[in-house]
Amino acid sequence: MQIIKVPEEISIKYGQLWDGLSANVYNNGILSITNGFIKAINDHTSNVEPVLNFSHATLMPALIDTHIHLAFPYEDVQPLDQRAQQYLQAGVAAVRDAGSTCGKLSVNSSLLLLQSMGAIYKKGCYGSALGYPAENLSQALQLVDKLAKLGAKHIKIVASGIFSFKIFSKTGAATFSASELRSIVKRAAAYNLPVMAHASGDEAVRCCLEAGVSTIEHGYFMSRETLKRLAASGIYWAPTLSPVNAQLAKPELFSALSPAMREVITRSLQYHQELIAEGFALGARILAGTDAGAPGVLHGISLLEEIMLLQNSGLSPLAALQAATSKAALACQLSEAGSLMTGKKPYILVLKDNPLNNLRTLFSPEALLIPA
Ligand SMILES: [Zn+2]
Repeated sequence: MQIIKVPEEISIKYGQLWDGLSANVYNNGILSITNGFIKAINDHTSNVEPVLNFSHATLMPALIDTHIHLAFPYEDVQPLDQRAQQYLQAGVAAVRDAGSTCGKLSVNSSLLLLQSMGAIYKKGCYGSALGYPAENLSQALQLVDKLAKLGAKHIKIVASGIFSFKIFSKTGAATFSASELRSIVKRAAAYNLPVMAHASGDEAVRCCLEAGVSTIEHGYFMSRETLKRLAASGIYWAPTLSPVNAQLAKPELFSALSPAMREVITRSLQYHQELIAEGFALGARILAGTDAGAPGVLHGISLLEEIMLLQNSGLSPLAALQAATSKAALACQLSEAGSLMTGKKPYILVLKDNPLNNLRTLFSPEALLIPA
């Protein structure tokens, strides 16, 4: 896998090109870049020099992981730059960080790292590993101000606990009311920041939808009624299958789980996949987010597994790929990447095969192109 920094003026010949948006694939064309931006994607002649020849390969937008924790695992001393490199090596050019207790993360990498600077959680409830406690609404709003001034690209709010591995369908309670969440969303909007809400359990997801957050993270055990509301709302949903799947797929890392707990986790994952299939059929805007850094979820390559899991949950290959490209960019307010179209920057993944026909080609990328 080559990482190529593309100059401000260049023509790239391709065999096939998928733009990240429609089911349409362009054949045997030229993508041209001028002044560092994509000028055209389907030229047949171009006078822009030099020329990069990928006429044997397929171009698509570089991938985006909408939910990671770059600072995790804390106990692993691997430098953040190395983790950033793992993303680029997997074809992932941008990631949205969902919080840690480290504050602003400094990374010397070409990876586009969208930082929350730490999540906001309700004091005494789940979330202490993810950021900063708020005892009440006024403290939560002060934290929004503080994180915005630090340069956060979004506000991450922990609106519930996690689901139980012992009792099927039991989740941690909602931690903020719909009215509190609405105030938090409003304050974040004053800084033009979207709100990324960790929410599992029906009440928490419902409160987040009522409050108008930008994305629901996890969303385990929402009711079917709430799923319908989610789909109708246009609010994005990152169902984060990877951390739950890892507990089943990598038993050596989870030896503390009893057979009964494994059974609960298996049923929980199945139920979640049913919700995803139904949500997809209802038109829900589904995102690929891995929760990388969580136990058993590796930085970088996990996103490819999450895309496969989304497909296994009923998404078409097109929708599973959009979940990690164009839809991900919209949800993360990332205007320069996520699709190949005029005016975007050249964040381009080069594959041996057309991913719409063969998702597994993502696992052996040929090159990642990023702006110089
Ligand atoms: Zn997370």
